[in-house]
Amino acid sequence: MNTTFIAMGVALLAGIGLVVTVGVFSLLSGAFHFLFARPKFTILKSKQESNGFAFSLKWNSSREPAKFDSIRLRLFNPFSNPTQVDVTRTFDAASSTFARDLDFGKNLGELLEACNHESASVEVEMSASKDALVHHFMFKAEAFKAMVEAATGDAEKFNEEHSLNYAKPLYQIPKRTFIAEPLPASNKALKISSNPEFAGAFAGAAGDAPAAENFSISKVWIEPGCIVCDACEAIYPEVFEVTDETCLIRPGAPLDNGLLVEEAAEACPVEVIKFTK
Ligand code: SF4
Repeated sequence: MNTTFIAMGVALLAGIGLVVTVGVFSLLSGAFHFLFARPKFTILKSKQESNGFAFSLKWNSSREPAKFDSIRLRLFNPFSNPTQVDVTRTFDAASSTFARDLDFGKNLGELLEACNHESASVEVEMSASKDALVHHFMFKAEAFKAMVEAATGDAEKFNEEHSLNYAKPLYQIPKRTFIAEPLPASNKALKISSNPEFAGAFAGAAGDAPAAENFSISKVWIEPGCIVCDACEAIYPEVFEVTDETCLIRPGAPLDNGLLVEEAAEACPVEVIKFTK
């Protein structure tokens, strides 16, 4: 009895230990991601005229798939004038680490001019509009201005070095064709009128192939095994009569149209129609 209780206690402790371990790892993973795996926004040196602003964005695109296509710079300057400057630019969407060098117009100059007050701040808002995802980066306005003036990177080079993953195809599409190969050349007439329902639609499909010559038969009969499908009667009702149980040859059936009898025999799914020429 004591041994059983001890075993149950050990199992319970092991279970609790496992749950606690998983929980701790989960928390650590979240904290690690929050602290070290946040998207990284960097200001680069613009090659545009005075209104140019270059930047790069790095983020874990496999963990956070999104196409960023818009940037917004907002200056909050509560104790000076202007109190707020807001500039937004859109660009061709990027689904992994990228850089852009954009012309922000004259408002950028106004924003940088107003960065001198120590209580002012600049917020950079990167948006993936179709994915409803936004990342914010806050800077002291003075630090933001200093970073713009001291920037060295080059957006074009940055993109070359971080070869854009999104330009690569995600899936290979095998080449296939659904067009049938042409039929081999033959002077035989196509026997496609076996099903009377479609015979009219295909009439003349044999093209210029010579028509088969008709012939007479001396005898036609049905062997055991008929499944009463009616195909033969539909093709040549003057010869074949399908009853509830089998198929019969009509008394006095004409024997001069061997082609039609042959067609009925070929249409028979169980091949029980026999004839002799
Ligand atoms: S086609 Fe063949 S199986 Fe169908 S009814 Fe005629 S003999 Fe019978």
